[in-house]
Amino acid sequence: MRLIPHWIAGAAVPGAATRRLPVWDPATGEQQAELAPATAAEVRTAVRAAADAYPGWRATGLSRRAEVMFRFRELVDANRKEIAAALSAEHGKTIPDALGEVARGLENAEFATGAPYLLRGGYSEQASSGVDVYSIRQPLGVVAGITPFNFPAMVPMWMFCNALVCGNTFVLKPSEKDPSVSLLLADLLRRAGLPDGVFNVVQGDKEAVDALIADPDVQALSFVGSTPVARAIYEAGTRAGKRVQALGGAKNHMVVLPDADVASAADAAVSAGYGSAGERCMAVSVVVAVGAVADPLVEAIAERVHKIRVGAASDPDAEMGPLISREHRDRVAGYLDAADTTARVVVDGRAATGDTGFFLGPSLLDRVPVDSPLYTDEIFGPVLSVVRVDTYEEALKLVNDNPYGNGTAIFTRDGGAARRFQYDAVCGMVGVNVPIPVPVAYYSFGGWKASLFGDLHMYGPDGIQFYTRTKVVTSRWPDPATSEVDLGFPKVR
Ligand code: NAD
Repeated sequence: MRLIPHWIAGAAVPGAATRRLPVWDPATGEQQAELAPATAAEVRTAVRAAADAYPGWRATGLSRRAEVMFRFRELVDANRKEIAAALSAEHGKTIPDALGEVARGLENAEFATGAPYLLRGGYSEQASSGVDVYSIRQPLGVVAGITPFNFPAMVPMWMFCNALVCGNTFVLKPSEKDPSVSLLLADLLRRAGLPDGVFNVVQGDKEAVDALIADPDVQALSFVGSTPVARAIYEAGTRAGKRVQALGGAKNHMVVLPDADVASAADAAVSAGYGSAGERCMAVSVVVAVGAVADPLVEAIAERVHKIRVGAASDPDAEMGPLISREHRDRVAGYLDAADTTARVVVDGRAATGDTGFFLGPSLLDRVPVDSPLYTDEIFGPVLSVVRVDTYEEALKLVNDNPYGNGTAIFTRDGGAARRFQYDAVCGMVGVNVPIPVPVAYYSFGGWKASLFGDLHMYGPDGIQFYTRTKVVTSRWPDPATSEVDLGFPKVR
């Protein structure tokens, strides 16, 4: 069985652990590779490599760091298809979807090339007589990223592009479910001119994460994944004195007002509900139909769901691929079993499960009760639930009472209603007639409530802030003529 290695100090390193984790091909259900999850000693080796590389990389000129990132951007651009194929082979998403992921990842490299501008400090001349005050932003040191299975290329790039250009060195712990693309990115960084040790990858699971949290040389942790793990990592990381941003799960509501264009809203709900088999943290999982729009909307969504072509990424006609694992597919199907008695199953995806691979067809549920696990749990699969309400206020209350606050969207032709929703929604990212409002790379990405633990969002300007700390210098050039002893607290004159 092919062993997927770590990447330490600029080279692939086979794992030494005897424990093995399988890497599946979700389209066939067969194992295609395995990894030897990093032990604490191997994590230590990777962190050591990053710590050794830090002084040299930090001292490297800003324009040289940006140049490396620019070259990396060019290499990712030139290798889009290869990266998309590699991630799709382990994740199962369709090639067009995988190419979209690469494009959204690439944006982060583009943004990071402009970091020298964003790293400028401030300068106040003559803050007191003969005294100047200025601020500078400095890197943190070794920082680590822990990433989920659903975006194995884009989410690491959310983190490392900014982290590296700010002068940090990086240890990535990718998802053990689709680990290979991290090595492809590591090799592109090497080819872009990144010195050995500046970017490292440790394959593994909780054991590797725990070792990163415990390592005193790791200054900061960026995490993206499910809410229980995000919360645990935030708590353990901050207790260990580290800076932590931990992005968690979601239950994204799409509110459709009675005046919305039904066809466009249905197109959006289907694209955002079933794209990537619903395994996106910004997937729409609940459509909140307000008033009389419900019947025509459910009908229009059902009509479209019936037409979705499910298949392997190797099938050029496939629009939706398999789920990530057999267990996850069965878990999602279990929700549908429960729906038989609690909701109206308008489209049932269980029939499309198939004998091979981890496939599950798209399902549409109507009149979902808000106290059932169908509504309260993050299902993370191709299941779209419709909840019917009478008023905008009831719809807003659902959005705001939900423990998650990643993304939400409103569909309406009323600009005033849309503006009110943008003002009222207790949620980190809002779409107005846009179902998946993932911000472009020059804004930052982050939810509220149980969708993010920490203060700063990820990538964009918040990313620069997260990966640097501010130092303020107060400076005077000595003037013997005015020098005197003064035991009072320093004051401005
Ligand atoms: P996950 O939480 O199971 O795993 C994420 C990472 O944490 C992986 O690298 C995994 O190896 C590691 N991990 C898992 N259990 C751990 C533990 N007990 N201790 C330490 N580390 C552990 O998430 P997943 O299944 O890979 O990804 C899907 C989840 O990620 C969904 O909940 C989705 O909403 C969320 N997600 C959120 C965002 C966001 O931006 N908010 C983006 C993508 C995915």
